[in-house]
Amino acid sequence: MFNILSPDIVFQEVPKEISLALTVTGCQIGCKGCHSPHIWNPQHGSPLTAMRLTELLEQYGSLITCVVFFGGEWQSQQLCSLLFQCQTAGFKTCLYTGEEDVSNTIKAHLDYLKTGPWRSEVGGLASRNSNQRFIDIATKKQLNYLFIKD
Ligand code: SF4
Repeated sequence: MFNILSPDIVFQEVPKEISLALTVTGCQIGCKGCHSPHIWNPQHGSPLTAMRLTELLEQYGSLITCVVFFGGEWQSQQLCSLLFQCQTAGFKTCLYTGEEDVSNTIKAHLDYLKTGPWRSEVGGLASRNSNQRFIDIATKKQLNYLFIKD
């Protein structure tokens, strides 16, 4: 079971989607310059049970088109179950991971995947030099260009 912080509605993390953002605590990747080291502690937040996810989807469902998880890949079985719940409810799904890749089992429940740790010297998705990749799972196409403004 993993915990999440308070959910947000976000507009930029998944292009062309309005997303319910669920930040899972317990990331152990330890990127230097991490934007949110407070989420490294898995005790922060509160448990994301299937029941809580059902309530969140009911609460925000009329506003969103997608659910994006920030982390959680380290508990693959739980993440897949929750992603499946989102898909079944009719929402697209996305995972932001700091790993270079995730299992095909997880990918089977995703529409979009962002990979790669934070490296300040090359920047995030909005940078042309970023090590990070944002991928459309169905087409396997990299969509980083949608994040680059200039
Ligand atoms: S993957 Fe994200 S949350 Fe985890 S350490 Fe890196 S920047 Fe921080």
